[in-house]
Amino acid sequence: MVRPQQLLHQAARDAVRRPVPSGLGLDSQAVRERMVRRLHGDGVRHPGVLDAFSRVPRHLFVDSALAIQAYEDTSLPIGLGQTISKPSVVARMLELALGAPGRGASLGRVLEIGTGCGYQAALLALISRELVSIERLGALHAKALRHLQLAGVEGVHLLHGDGCLGHAPRAPYDTIIAAAGGDSLPEAWLQQLAPGGRLVAPMRAPGCQAQVLVVVDRTAEGLRRSEHEGVLFVPLKTGAA
Ligand code: SAH
Repeated sequence: MVRPQQLLHQAARDAVRRPVPSGLGLDSQAVRERMVRRLHGDGVRHPGVLDAFSRVPRHLFVDSALAIQAYEDTSLPIGLGQTISKPSVVARMLELALGAPGRGASLGRVLEIGTGCGYQAALLALISRELVSIERLGALHAKALRHLQLAGVEGVHLLHGDGCLGHAPRAPYDTIIAAAGGDSLPEAWLQQLAPGGRLVAPMRAPGCQAQVLVVVDRTAEGLRRSEHEGVLFVPLKTGAA
């Protein structure tokens, strides 16, 4: 006869032996390296970007029920109708930012708009000298604070507020990177961009619903703008909530 206690003891022993509940297996580093190899295969070449992706535990930035998908090239919900972008898009934006003329391995002083769950902020922290990141939704701002602490990322200035206003007290920024797109680039971002600085943001292409990645450089001759591939980011909204 099988006594219920025995089953419970067996279940307890199995639970200890079983991999982490995320379903990632015991070695999230190996899963992460696979993602990095895939990014490399897709054309991501900057060593600093690949290194950052191999170091930041993306599964700590999403809900545990989604952790099993954390290293797939997919966007995931982070609550309040917002999403974390897929790794290949984040990598593309970081490479565009690092591709500014005369830029070394660091993005310098960075302003990020749309902290979300804090994942991109954790990547940025590894390739910048200073990072200010603004989120308009208080609940996500609080979530990002927790995630960055959990992942052991320090020294990021997380702010709750309207990123359309930028953050003048620490301006100018060598890099401005937005994770939400509107119809035009807020004036404050252009004003807070340092000489030689680069802004990378999604923006609705004039006259249509589709978004494209826009790059703006502040050169000696003024602002130089270029448009790149189509993307799909959440809308840039004004005000904080
Ligand atoms: N980089 C984030 C992506 C988050 S999605 C990550 O790694 O998780 C984009 C975020 O931009 C959302 O959280 C949304 O609330 C925020 N957002 C939209 N408009 C904003 C604004 N004006 N100021 C600050 N954040 C904004």
